[in-house]
Amino acid sequence: MQQDEKNITLITPDAQMHAATHGGRAKCLQRLVRLDLPVPRTIALSFDAVHSIAAGDMPDMKALLAPFGDAPLLCVRPSSEDPDWGGPGAILNIGINDATYVDLSDKLGEVAAAEIYLRFVQSYAIHVARLDPDILDDVSSDPKLGLSQALRAYEAETEEEFPQDPAVQLAEVLRSMARAWEGTTARLLRQAKGAPADAGLGLVVQELALGLGQGECGSGVIQLVNSQTGERKITGRYLSQSQGREALRGGADSLYLERDPRGPSLEELAPEAFEALKSYTAMMREKLREEMQAEFTIENGKVFLLDGLRVARNARAAVGIAVSLAEDGIISREEALMRVEPRALNELLHRQVDPEAPRDVLARGIAASPGAASGRIVFSAAEAQASQARGEACILVRRETSPEDIRGMHAAVAVLTERGGMTSHAAVIGRGIGLPCVVGASDIHFQARRNQLTMPDGRVLKAGDVITIDGTNGLVLAGETPLLEAARDASFQTLMSWADGVRDIAVRANADTPADAEVARNFKARGIGLCRTEHMFFEEDRLTVMREMIFADSSKDRAAVLERLLPMQRADFTDLFRIMQGKPVCIRLFDPPLHEFLPTDRAGHLQLAEALDLPLSDVTRRVEALSEYNPMLGMRGVRLGITVPEIYDMQARAIFEATIEASKEGAPVVPEVMIPLVSARREVELVKTRIDAVAAAVRNETGREFTYRLGVMVETPRAALRAGDIAPLVSFLSFGTNDLTQMTYGLSRDDAGRFMSDYVKQGVYPEDPFHTLDIDGVGELLKIGAERGRAANPDVVLSICGEHGGNPESIAFCRDAGFDYVSCSPFRVPVARLAAAQLTVKDKIG
Ligand code: PEP
Ligand code: MG
Repeated sequence: MQQDEKNITLITPDAQMHAATHGGRAKCLQRLVRLDLPVPRTIALSFDAVHSIAAGDMPDMKALLAPFGDAPLLCVRPSSEDPDWGGPGAILNIGINDATYVDLSDKLGEVAAAEIYLRFVQSYAIHVARLDPDILDDVSSDPKLGLSQALRAYEAETEEEFPQDPAVQLAEVLRSMARAWEGTTARLLRQAKGAPADAGLGLVVQELALGLGQGECGSGVIQLVNSQTGERKITGRYLSQSQGREALRGGADSLYLERDPRGPSLEELAPEAFEALKSYTAMMREKLREEMQAEFTIENGKVFLLDGLRVARNARAAVGIAVSLAEDGIISREEALMRVEPRALNELLHRQVDPEAPRDVLARGIAASPGAASGRIVFSAAEAQASQARGEACILVRRETSPEDIRGMHAAVAVLTERGGMTSHAAVIGRGIGLPCVVGASDIHFQARRNQLTMPDGRVLKAGDVITIDGTNGLVLAGETPLLEAARDASFQTLMSWADGVRDIAVRANADTPADAEVARNFKARGIGLCRTEHMFFEEDRLTVMREMIFADSSKDRAAVLERLLPMQRADFTDLFRIMQGKPVCIRLFDPPLHEFLPTDRAGHLQLAEALDLPLSDVTRRVEALSEYNPMLGMRGVRLGITVPEIYDMQARAIFEATIEASKEGAPVVPEVMIPLVSARREVELVKTRIDAVAAAVRNETGREFTYRLGVMVETPRAALRAGDIAPLVSFLSFGTNDLTQMTYGLSRDDAGRFMSDYVKQGVYPEDPFHTLDIDGVGELLKIGAERGRAANPDVVLSICGEHGGNPESIAFCRDAGFDYVSCSPFRVPVARLAAAQLTVKDKIG
């Protein structure tokens, strides 16, 4: 070729071409050419060439057209580096003019020729000359008549003749596609899909394989798997006398590919072409080492492959495809692991609305986070938390959410917002924590102050009414809808077992209740990394006892009330140990300030006074006495354990008695007892002495032996800095990055929402550090703590149990810092298992 071969390249088996310079489509076409598949002649324009075209610097059109002969008929398609970044739509039939129309009429018949010309005039007018599509509204569906009308309309609008020179047509097409890519809208769209701002566009100019004409002609799309399930099944459609992807929208005339009871198929119509297609696609799968979709044309019985694309897939299919490619020996297991985005697993980890079940759709919105759940409507984060404390499933309904709502979101089973899109706060957080979420339900009239919602059909819902959120399909459904359990099919289990085979950092779950523990076990968590025991006291029957304990005047009275809490706690722990079947369970001793258990309003005080048979003034005084200016930095955690030691004594006894109980039936249990909010070695010494004493007492009383491990939660900066003092006293250090972030920044976890978005918007923080671990600051404390802890006690087990534990980037950090495990909420366990496995594979690949 005459042209600059680096930038304008005829696709041959050994042309110099790369996805990074010519785009993924061009590179894929070259691979098909190398396989000797029937690909029409194609020229690839590099990113640089297209960039120059956008700037007005056109290539030598004559030379560009030379390989296509005297009367070329061409199509142009975009070829971005990653096909998922999109690009302008393909333009077909370039080159047709009055002269070729006559020739084509002789060859294909007049109707087919008119159809081809008409289609080109239409797409040229709208996409290249950018005329108002309305001008073609009245064009007849009869191709011959339609063609002359369309040409007239074009000429009337532009006051120019429709361009006849193929070189002019092609130049204009190239220019318009190159410019479209550089426009702001296209840039924003691709950036939203993860493309860098300066991502390049390549173009491919291909000789047209006509899907119209005599003999069996048509076009279609074929792939060998189902894009929703990953099941191996020939999928696609074919439409006679069609071009491009028309078969996919071709309605009743479109044929199935394989013989199908639902209707006629290509296999019956043109068996040889069908067999050829099947074998081409299978070859693409094997040689391109990927499940591919082929766009094809049949021209008088002969098959041409125009394009190969990675099969579009949801998360479930992605897993199925990766596993089947590895099982067929096409890719390695490691590669299969690398092909599934860990966060995408969220999609198959959740319950879904049963598609067979009847449903009553109240409204629609954006499907922002997959899964489905039913619950009662609440309108604030506080109500959501209260609802959770009562053990009642609730749906948090907000205009939009902000970081202040995070705790409420954790407490809710699903979220619905009026505003927002896929990257709004509710959507991002919902996906992160695996919470079904519908956002942007703007057809619903939100009357937040009146605590009600008016649905598009006029139905009014109030706080407490039950709805179902279908976050997979973006639906709000009335009442409780039957749900299907998550689709953890055989492929998922296989991929996960491969992940566990290579992973070198363990994953545990944060689980407070038997239900959480069941999920954790089902997701094959290596154990429980954090059981927040205080959640057990919020249950109705315990709250009153807890309050009595708080109101007890003397240590003796307090001990008496704790006697009543003891069997409840013992039962809690026995349940957890049984469910976890001998896997480690790390129980954190009581952490929050006591006043969190007291009522906040007068009515609550009155109720409590009645229950405790005390004067109201006593109750009010006591509540006031317990209030603190900074409760999160006040009397909580180990400070409570030292000043009111009976609580930890009771908990330790409950843990040890449950250990003995659960060990009777199954694997011996070795409980882990974790002290929260430590800042000084002496705190650990004091608590350890008492807990050892409780253990000795339980051994004496029962005559049974057991061991336990004591550990410290490192969540104050001082504990991280002084880890060298603390580590020799304990078996493990677990970093609580929620509090550690709060204290490192001096930033209230509960109030940061007020300014966090401003801070992130103005680049003060790159991200919300409560969501993404701050590697520079908090991370440095983690490293210091880990190094000093390990130096002082080489056997100390290191882990992270803050929310960051389930985040793939944080897992990478913890693994590099030599941690033994991460612990995260149960639904994030598979994501963490896969993310951790990918880190090992990446290291291996180098
Ligand atoms: C932490 O502080 O990181 C933690 C896990 O504990 P909590 O969130 O209960 O304070
Ligand atoms: Mg904490």
